[in-house]
Amino acid sequence: MEERPHKVAPGTYLIEVPFILGLRSKSKESVTLCYLIEEEAGWLMIDSGYNDGASFNHLCHQLDLLNTSLQQIRWLLLTHYHPDHSGLANRIKAASGAQVIMHRQDWTILQATVSSSEVWNIHGMIPWARSLGVPEPELEGFYHIASLGREFFPRGLEPDIILEGETNPVGDSGRLHAILTPGHTPGHICVYDRRDSLLFSGDHVLVEITPHISPSHLTSQDQLEQYLESLRKVRSLDVKLVLPAHERPFTHFSKRVDEILAHHDHRLAEVVAAISDRVATPWEIAQQVKWDVGCWAEMDHTNRVLAVRETLAHLQLLEHRGTVMQVERNGVTTYRLVNSNS
Ligand SMILES: [Zn+2]
Repeated sequence: MEERPHKVAPGTYLIEVPFILGLRSKSKESVTLCYLIEEEAGWLMIDSGYNDGASFNHLCHQLDLLNTSLQQIRWLLLTHYHPDHSGLANRIKAASGAQVIMHRQDWTILQATVSSSEVWNIHGMIPWARSLGVPEPELEGFYHIASLGREFFPRGLEPDIILEGETNPVGDSGRLHAILTPGHTPGHICVYDRRDSLLFSGDHVLVEITPHISPSHLTSQDQLEQYLESLRKVRSLDVKLVLPAHERPFTHFSKRVDEILAHHDHRLAEVVAAISDRVATPWEIAQQVKWDVGCWAEMDHTNRVLAVRETLAHLQLLEHRGTVMQVERNGVTTYRLVNSNS
């Protein structure tokens, strides 16, 4: 982790906010990369960190090192609602008066997430997981993930600027535009800086990790399709430097987009091969896919949950393309190939 904020472009600084202890893995994704951009009236900040006192103190200390303070932040833009991005929004807003900016699609989900534990944990998530063929003992993993994340979301947040539609100017210098890039979440936004050809990519495009496309009971059916569409949408932008929310900044933008597109093509083929001539649940299919985190038998609850959801995203796209079809069996969703003889 960088000890102090550093300049990544003219008037643009990177601040690393570490994940909460216990949520850190050995992987590189254990910090949120936040950015401060110099606008006319003050800073526009992109993303925050988990809602936790140590993260907040760390952020304040980093601002000190830059000889600035929370009071200089005029806008806080959240690329998406996940807690490692939105978590500190309310604390920052309370201390600075900054206007919080997010897209309506994600604001809707954030409200549902923090409003009622009943809706989020029990009445929604568990039956949904069951319908994917997740066996009873493993439902705990889904429950754990749903409840683990909740406390790190911002409480009582009211965004000041709720973006609608595809692109919106943000800040006051005219250099920054928020672009709707649904997929990782339905209301994910990237920020494009036309002046310096920078792309603040959030979790849409990362240098090594393939961003998770994880449908849930709160999201729509076509997340992966939207994601691939969003990759194609930004691919032709003139980008000299990508400033993502995890890992590290990088320059080979269109090449990286092509790699991610190819990765999903490969995974779609893997899912088709995993179904073969069977009729199988997403849970069963996920076990046949090769995952980077290791083999299924040794995977922990969390990774299994992510694997099943990622598998479901690919199944939904294959269904949309007419390659697979759903077959309901006693309330459980199974899939088969359309051209299979079984
Ligand atoms: Zn993230």
